[in-house]
Amino acid sequence: MEGGCLCGRVRYEARGAPMRSYLCHCRDCQRAGGSAFAAAMMFPAEAVSVQGELRAFSVTAESGEAVYRHFCPQCGSGVINTGPPGGEAVVVLAGTLDDPSGFAPDFELFCQSAQPWVHAESARTRLSRGR
Ligand SMILES: [Zn+2]
Ligand SMILES: [Zn+2]
Repeated sequence: MEGGCLCGRVRYEARGAPMRSYLCHCRDCQRAGGSAFAAAMMFPAEAVSVQGELRAFSVTAESGEAVYRHFCPQCGSGVINTGPPGGEAVVVLAGTLDDPSGFAPDFELFCQSAQPWVHAESARTRLSRGR
């Protein structure tokens, strides 16, 4: 899978299938993305390669762990999230994929902070409901 930021200066490639695909409704993802939730895929760190400059903003997540949100300094698009440097996983934000239509979240996180005006359902739920 390939993707990149809004201005195109940052490009990435993620190889293989994601370990997890999910929607995150935490307040940090809401603020960082300016939207209701983050659509995210977790890959082993070695499966993701990035070209172009990323800058990171780190914040202590609700889990108590540091999360680094990496964005393009030119256009501000959030592209990937990681733990502290040297971590084993990289989270790719699905909206940055060249073709996000193949993204299929199987679960949702931090549903207690989901906005009442959002009615996202996982692809699996949608399929099982036949719409
Ligand atoms: Zn950019
Ligand atoms: Zn989140």
